Amino acid sequence: MLLRLTSSSSKRSSGPGENTFTKVHGMFIPFRQILVTAVAFAFAVTAGQVRAENSFSMVVIDPGHGGSDPGGIPSQIVPEKTVALDTALRLQTLLQRAGLRTVMTRSTDIFVPLSVRSAIADAEHDAIFVSIHYNASPRRSAHGIETYSDSNRGAVLAARIQQEIIDRVSTENRGTRSAEFYVLRKCRLPAVLVECGFLTNPTEAQLALTTAYREQIAEQIAAGIIEQRQFAFPSLAPTHRSGHLVHKNKKQRKIVDLEHAKPPFWAFCKFLGSYQILFPAFASS
Ligand code: ZN
Repeated sequence: MLLRLTSSSSKRSSGPGENTFTKVHGMFIPFRQILVTAVAFAFAVTAGQVRAENSFSMVVIDPGHGGSDPGGIPSQIVPEKTVALDTALRLQTLLQRAGLRTVMTRSTDIFVPLSVRSAIADAEHDAIFVSIHYNASPRRSAHGIETYSDSNRGAVLAARIQQEIIDRVSTENRGTRSAEFYVLRKCRLPAVLVECGFLTNPTEAQLALTTAYREQIAEQIAAGIIEQRQFAFPSLAPTHRSGHLVHKNKKQRKIVDLEHAKPPFWAFCKFLGSYQILFPAFASS
């Protein structure tokens, strides 16, 4: 529609009433300039080329798990490492098409220690960090998509990505959450971790096995990232936590904020044996 407007304005300028247009030259040219600028802006926004002042030009893409670490829980059939890698590679293609530079923490089915993933992210500037995972739960009914962050800058990126996914993917919106995943906690870049659906849920596992679903997820994550480029990140604010309920498996650590985890819930989780309470004074980095 914007293109049609541009072409109609140029037709007018080359029309028969040349003297008339010369007379209003002073009025018409600025209007045309504004129109052309608006069209250029619209295309630049679409291509992800408009950048806010402290925005980014690179995305470090981190496909979860890999190699000897399949991800998820032992009982699940679809391995998380495989669908996470495929989704991440699709995201890489989409972002490169939009003019962004990308770095992958892994591009094949290999095991990459979390410390190496963090080091790869640390080596980059002018970048954001996006980790791609699929979720798992002992409850087969658990489903939906959620996006994690560990800082206020990550939180704004997480909100855009989550919204873009939910706008198009028909599933439960589990929202954005604060979490202390190792790769988020260690990352000084704006960082998010997207859980793209539950592989322990029969419906979502079947969806995750389709290329159409993985492409759709990648497209929506890319849309959120490209949109974020137009907005400045807030100044980095220190995170404040008085104590955390954490998974005993450090690789899979998720924090349940204290306000969501009342003491009876802690006791229950400790009884289950999977979680422990971690206070910052005792937390190793
Ligand atoms: Zn994972």
